Amino acid sequence: MPPTVAIVGRTNVGKSTLFNRLTRGRRAITHDLPGVTRDRVAADARRPGGGRVVIVDTGGFEPDPEAAIPAMIRRQALVAVEAADAVVLVVDGAAGLVPGDEDLAEQVRRLDRPAILAVNKTDRRDAELGAVEFAALGFPMVGLSAEHGRGIEALWELLDPLLPPSEEEEEQETVRELGVAIVGRPNAGKSSILNRLFGEERVLVSEVPGTTRDAVDTLLDYDGHRIRLIDTAGIRRRGKTERGPEVLSVVMARKAIERAHVCILVIDAAEGITAQDAHVAGYVVDAGRAVVAVVNKADLIPKDGPAARRAIAEKVTQQLKFIKGTPVVFTSALTGEGLDRILPQVLTVGDAMALRMGTGELNRVLRAAWDRNPPPAGKRPHRLYYATQIGSRPPRIAVFASTTELHFSYLRFLENAVREAFPLEGVPVRFIMKEKRGRRG
Ligand code: GDP
Repeated sequence: MPPTVAIVGRTNVGKSTLFNRLTRGRRAITHDLPGVTRDRVAADARRPGGGRVVIVDTGGFEPDPEAAIPAMIRRQALVAVEAADAVVLVVDGAAGLVPGDEDLAEQVRRLDRPAILAVNKTDRRDAELGAVEFAALGFPMVGLSAEHGRGIEALWELLDPLLPPSEEEEEQETVRELGVAIVGRPNAGKSSILNRLFGEERVLVSEVPGTTRDAVDTLLDYDGHRIRLIDTAGIRRRGKTERGPEVLSVVMARKAIERAHVCILVIDAAEGITAQDAHVAGYVVDAGRAVVAVVNKADLIPKDGPAARRAIAEKVTQQLKFIKGTPVVFTSALTGEGLDRILPQVLTVGDAMALRMGTGELNRVLRAAWDRNPPPAGKRPHRLYYATQIGSRPPRIAVFASTTELHFSYLRFLENAVREAFPLEGVPVRFIMKEKRGRRG
């Protein structure tokens, strides 16, 4: 989970301008609550030393205990503050300290979040007059002009040390090798496919020891990408000598799946989908690995045109409970058909596994889905606060909402919305519902 910073402050002090400065115009989501105020918005920002943070702009933090709707918004803002690793309390340097500021400062203190005070609008001639008063709030203080971009560096200097380290950046990970397991029933054609792949001109092959005794992996250098085919020795050995208990091949497949990012599931077109295929597929999905389905022995499919293949492809995704859009490649190790499509498809799915979904876009998509079809409400309608991707391989999305009790089918609905917006074919997506972040310590 990237660290989160909440920006709070009275209306008109310059929260959004600061938000835009920090996120450098990265697409934010704005959501209008009719007649009242903007909802919260969240977007990514880069820390000065690299690393990602999520900045949350709390909309109307107007302390007005009279009005019912502002009270609700205020509650949301408080959730944002509680969920944040650090808080930037923005005040208007030209207006000087007002009771509303003191109120907010008190709230932030009570929630026990590390905070800094940003005195904004210091470009105004009448600014800074309240500096002594502001200092009395007791937070580390920085003068800003969010509008002119002044003081942003100084703000980061105070803010950055308050934040936990950002997760290791994923960019490095994408240049690392992609682990690929080839699984499927004995006789489906795995070793035949391997042999053909190794024979491809564009593929540079080298064998390396696997992690367990007498496991041998094969490294493929292909189009500037490095693919590690996991336990190729096992596949070839089994392919040639062993027609024995299928249980054994399932056990071996499981080991390979655990080490892989992407699994190629080879299905015998002549046999159709078997219980063992379903078993292995289920394991791939549960393990959170991506899938490319390969229907081999396509030369044996009756020649009644593409319709037969479409029917098979549909059956594969349905019966193996793959997500919609899982790539299905038809191959024949005998004729060579389709084999050249396997590695490109594996790489595409590998990229999708490492995909970084921008926080702004992700929130826009989820917000739109939620508003179009909100989850069944209890006493009050449920609120979606914000969402952010907290990991990849497979992609994991943390969703902050007023409830964590969303029905499986509703999560599936949200997942589909995300799938429509991002290239995630063949990749499992995990949702982690959070009511709010617990206190540290
Ligand atoms: P593995 O156990 O999954 O590794 O399967 P093998 O690669 O050993 O293949 C099993 C049998 O199927 C062998 O007799 C292969 O010649 C045959 N085979 C593999 N691929 C194809 C194919 O695309 N078409 C046809 N007709 N036979 C194939």
